[in-house]
Amino acid sequence: MRLAGLSIVVVEDHAFQRRVALRLLAELGLSQIGEAADGAAALALLAKAQTPPDVVLVDLDLPGMDGIEFIGHVAARKLARAIALTSALDPALLNTVQGMARAYGLRVLGVVEKPLTTAKLAEVLAQFHNAEESSVVEPSIEIRHEALRHGLGASEFEPFFQPKVALSTGQVVGVEALARWRHDGRIIPPNQFISIFEREGLIDEFTERMLERSCIWQRRWAAAGVELKLSVNVSMLNLLHVDAADRYQRIVVDNGVKPRDVVIEVTESSVMSEAGHALNVLARLRLKGFGLSIDDFGTGYSSLAQLSQIPFTELKIDQGFVSGAVRQPRKRAVVETSLDLARKLQLTVVAEGVETVEEWQMLAELGCQQAQGFLIAPALPGDELLAAIRNWHQPETPHPESQ
Ligand code: C2E
Ligand code: MG
Ligand code: MG
Repeated sequence: MRLAGLSIVVVEDHAFQRRVALRLLAELGLSQIGEAADGAAALALLAKAQTPPDVVLVDLDLPGMDGIEFIGHVAARKLARAIALTSALDPALLNTVQGMARAYGLRVLGVVEKPLTTAKLAEVLAQFHNAEESSVVEPSIEIRHEALRHGLGASEFEPFFQPKVALSTGQVVGVEALARWRHDGRIIPPNQFISIFEREGLIDEFTERMLERSCIWQRRWAAAGVELKLSVNVSMLNLLHVDAADRYQRIVVDNGVKPRDVVIEVTESSVMSEAGHALNVLARLRLKGFGLSIDDFGTGYSSLAQLSQIPFTELKIDQGFVSGAVRQPRKRAVVETSLDLARKLQLTVVAEGVETVEEWQMLAELGCQQAQGFLIAPALPGDELLAAIRNWHQPETPHPESQ
């Protein structure tokens, strides 16, 4: 197991709990383990290390320098590659601390609730590798205009597809196209190249390619008897050209797809910053029959007034609120409020990042319409989608009488 190779420093003031943590980590096969009883000692230890440890597991409730101050130092001096928190504190406070650490640019693997167990530790530490693959990585500076342009020409960019499922029936009703770059034998995720496309003035060409290739797949599945709505992400920069709606309509229609079977997704934070300029194109897309989705809802700052001005048809609750909502009343409140708002504005609601059966059940009970997430399937190459759909079975949900 890859966990065994991790290097870790445990910061815990309580001697007995520190010993427990060390023993559990050893049971998981970790051999590079450091320890410190308070923030000052931990900083001294980290400063001496030749390379930062992979993970610092820190108890927030430390004497002297508290965990929050400690994390600030670790972030500022880049003393660890990632942190994980342990605490018996209120989940809302833990959330705030996680958000703060991320804002400092630190990778946060998660919270290991006390009492520690090997299972809880393994679950959070396993994020080290996941997070590394999916976290928002600063685009590497070597990716330059030429590489992107060449990649576009050589069709190295392709949409992968993630199913969207109706919670009431378990049926796959659509897919979201998520861009991937097959480059030098690797599959590179979009957060490493979208912003460069934007910066290098290539985003229009890129989005058109994605839309076109996605439509081609949609027709192939339809020919195999599987009708799926198609969701495509666009950048706000794409929507600043008045002719974008016409171009997208042409691409869709030329490839045998109806605009009403296509949903255009825009992130909440971007749309609100440019609402004025993009409104024209969004309205025209809607007029032509495209669906419009507000992505990562809850991460931007839209007011009810702004939301009601833009002719959205769908709202996607950000994964950050879905994961954890089962146990954290505040996150659940955001999910419930989003659902209420969506009902009032008559929007379809999609929960993003659904990873567990518990989350599925909670969302079904709350009346959320659609779910997307690793519980169902990750984003897959077009030729693997139909098999994944066939293999998917909806989790058992409690009978209506028992609700
Ligand atoms: P998004 O549109 O909000 O897409 C959801 C992201 O969450 C995807 O990451 C997806 O792989 C990931 N995801 C799905 N289910 C789960 C889950 O259960 N757990 C976890 N932890 N993650 C899950 P991906 O593919 O890396 O895309 C990241 C973002 O990049 C997208 O967020 C979207 O904003 C942007 N993006 C992707 N493709 C395109 C594109 O063609 N054009 C533009 N402009 N943006 C794109
Ligand atoms: Mg999206
Ligand atoms: Mg999203």
